[in-house]
Amino acid sequence: MNPLSVRARQAPADTLASPLLRVVNLRKSYATPQGPLPVLRGVDLVLRAGETLALMGESGSGKSTLLHLVGALDRGDAGEILLEGVDIERLSENARAALRREAIGVVFQQFNLVASLTVAENLAFQARLAGRYDPDWQARLTARLGLDALAARYPEQLSGGQQQRVAVGRALAVRPKLLLADEPTGNLDEAAGDAVMALTLDLVAETGCAFLMVTHSARLAARLERQETLIAGALSAS
Ligand code: ADP
Ligand code: MG
Repeated sequence: MNPLSVRARQAPADTLASPLLRVVNLRKSYATPQGPLPVLRGVDLVLRAGETLALMGESGSGKSTLLHLVGALDRGDAGEILLEGVDIERLSENARAALRREAIGVVFQQFNLVASLTVAENLAFQARLAGRYDPDWQARLTARLGLDALAARYPEQLSGGQQQRVAVGRALAVRPKLLLADEPTGNLDEAAGDAVMALTLDLVAETGCAFLMVTHSARLAARLERQETLIAGALSAS
């Protein structure tokens, strides 16, 4: 091969080396009546653009805590959370709110839909707030998630699996760079959970976003590209 063409294809080292998300020596304790409870004791994690990673660990091991910190929903005590090279721990609350609106989608176990809004309104709500509402993408998401016939319903008129499909659509409506999910199938039966997982993984692949999912289930974790486990406040590949 012509050595010049090889050189021309090389991106600057930074672009190649810088992952979407890099967590460095992240620490977090909670204040309790018995004193500080250390939960994250130096977590290191790298997630590249488009990668899918399952985060496992026993109940109480700190999975939700880590997800909340990465999602800029809470702050750590020490360490760095670099999103495209920017340490979100050191951003202002306004800048973090903008990240939560525009760059990071989150799906919770409890769906957390807005009860007073229809399915269509729930799907569009955050994208409109972020100024990222795209009617074509919205229509495609609605169809892909099998929600066309349910668009005018309210959350209480939906099954758990249907509600979670709306929550996935809401999170992806802004085309986030990073999708986070905390036991997204934890409240669903196996069939509904598997359907939500399959749709989520398809849409993650289609949007090219990275996906970090907390799960108890080794079976579901195996469907993602990488698996890591939180043990004693730190991560190890599994
Ligand atoms: P997981 O999601 O792996 O079950 P969590 O991150 O929810 O674990 O919690 C980790 C530990 O931190 C648990 O012992 C939990 O009781 C404790 N914890 C979580 N949130 C708080 C809080 N706000 N105040 C005090 N302790 C907390
Ligand atoms: Mg949890």
